[in-house]
Amino acid sequence: CGIVGYTGARSALGIVLDGLRRLEYRGYDSAGVAVVADGELLVCKRAGKLSNLEKALMERADWHAPEGAPVDQPLTSGETPAGEPVLSRQEASGKDAATPLGISGGTTAIGHTRWATHGGPTDRNAHPHLSSDCRVGVIHNGIIENFAQLRDELEGCDVEFASDTDTECVAHLLCRELEKPDVADLSEAMRRVCQRLEGAFTLLAVDANAPGVVVGARRNSPLVVGRGAGENYLASDVSAFIEHTREAIELGQDQIVMITPDEIVITDFAGNTTTGKDFHIDWDA
Ligand code: GLU
Repeated sequence: CGIVGYTGARSALGIVLDGLRRLEYRGYDSAGVAVVADGELLVCKRAGKLSNLEKALMERADWHAPEGAPVDQPLTSGETPAGEPVLSRQEASGKDAATPLGISGGTTAIGHTRWATHGGPTDRNAHPHLSSDCRVGVIHNGIIENFAQLRDELEGCDVEFASDTDTECVAHLLCRELEKPDVADLSEAMRRVCQRLEGAFTLLAVDANAPGVVVGARRNSPLVVGRGAGENYLASDVSAFIEHTREAIELGQDQIVMITPDEIVITDFAGNTTTGKDFHIDWDA
C-alpha cells in the first residue's frame, strides 16, 4: 500500500520510517522494513500501526538509539536539527570494527505499509518477504494474479513458504534467478521475474550481497524515483521523500529501475535502457 526505498550515506532505517509515516494517510494494516547491513538483511515487521513496528525495532539488540537520545523517543530520519547525521557507519559499528552495524546502521533499506489482499493482516504476512536463504527481500503493492500457479511450481521444487501472501513467490523467484550463472545482478533477475508476473504491482527488492542497491519495478501501479545528492529514493508517492528532494522521475508502464547512491538506471522488462518522466515537485509538503 505504501512503499519506500533508500540508499545513500545516512541511516536508511530512519529515512524509510519517516517516509512510511508520510504515507500513513493511505491506510494500512501492517508495516515492515528490511535493512542491508554487513552482507545480511535485517528485517522487522509487525501487524498493526507503525508504532508497533517502532516498538519492536527498539526492543531489538541490534537497534542503536541516536546518541544521547532516550530509547523511547520516536525514530528520526538520522539527522540532528543541525543537519548532522546522528549515526554514521563508524558510530554504528562502535570502536571495534568487527561489531555488526545493526539495523539502524545500514545505509540501504526498504519499507512497506500493507493493505492485505492475500493472507490475513498478521506479523508473518507483513512485508518484506524473504527468499528461503534470506538473501533477497521484497515489498509489493498490488496483486500478483498468477501467484497460485507460481507457488505450486516453487513448492514442486521444495521451496517452503513462510506466509500466505501472493508476494512471497517473487522473493523466491528472484533468488532462483540470481543463482543462475548468466544473471548478472538484481535488476536482471527482476526483469526476468517480471516477465512471468500477471496483475498489478509495484515491487522493490534488495539483495544482501549487493549493499547500496535497491531495484524497483512497476506495472499498473505507481513508482517514483527521488533524485538526491549522493543518495536516491524510491516510493509509491513523492510525499515519502519530499522533505529530502524535489527532483523526481515518474516511471512508465513495465519499467525496472536500479538505484545506487550515485546512479539511477531505468530499463524496460526486456532489458533495453529507457527513461522515465523527469519532474520537479513544486507544491508545498
Ligand atoms: N497483495 C499483497 C498482500 O496482500 C500486497 C498488498 C498491498 O498492496 O499492500 O500482501
